[in-house]
Amino acid sequence: MMLRVGLTGGIASGKSTVAHLLAEWGCFVVDADKVVAELYQIGSPGHDAIRERYGEGVLDEEGEIDRMKLSAVALATPEAANELNTLIHPLVIAETQRRLHEKEEAVKPDALIGVVEATLIIEGGTKHLYDKIVVVDADPVSQVDRAIQRGLTREEAERRMARQSERDIRLRDADYVIRNDGDRLDMADQVKQLHTKLLLDLERKSRGVISLS
Ligand code: ADP
Repeated sequence: MMLRVGLTGGIASGKSTVAHLLAEWGCFVVDADKVVAELYQIGSPGHDAIRERYGEGVLDEEGEIDRMKLSAVALATPEAANELNTLIHPLVIAETQRRLHEKEEAVKPDALIGVVEATLIIEGGTKHLYDKIVVVDADPVSQVDRAIQRGLTREEAERRMARQSERDIRLRDADYVIRNDGDRLDMADQVKQLHTKLLLDLERKSRGVISLS
């Protein structure tokens, strides 16, 4: 049995930091960005799909996907970016769900919390795959600052920031919100409290399953 948690938030809101802390509390975490990177490896379904759609021109000499070349073609316009998303997103969803299921089977009969960290959970229409949605929310100023510290230019950071409407939609769908405007200690404290709540949810879900039989 697994409590499935979707962990989401805007760019540089602090998702990975929350995911790491939850992993330290014993949650099983799947990072959607890592899944994408693995799907892009030679011989993987994402690589096949990209080569088929965009041709050899987006590969380097070794046959690996060249992110720069791919971006130039596939992220040139919002429509193009949408098309790339439509191509890759179903593969990412299938693979993350497969990993959760595999882990759930492996630990049986134990119950655990499985977390998927991904930018596109609500916008990607996959909310229904999760028992609980956790949103990491930071005010736009701290988000942009953190993104710049991580190497993005200010323009790029501001361009990729969610619009206020997207932020509102995310918050509306959240079961739990981590507000990441303070320091790391403050965030760790909130994650500890979140973990306690998720354990209670896990227990409730387990009890539900037992009472069905
Ligand atoms: P995301 O996964 O949402 O893109 P990260 O967790 O990678 O965001 O956080 C973005 C950057 O900000 C990272 O370098 C991270 O270490 C830093 N960071 C996150 N939360 C805090 C915080 N509360 N105080 C200081 N730095 C933070």
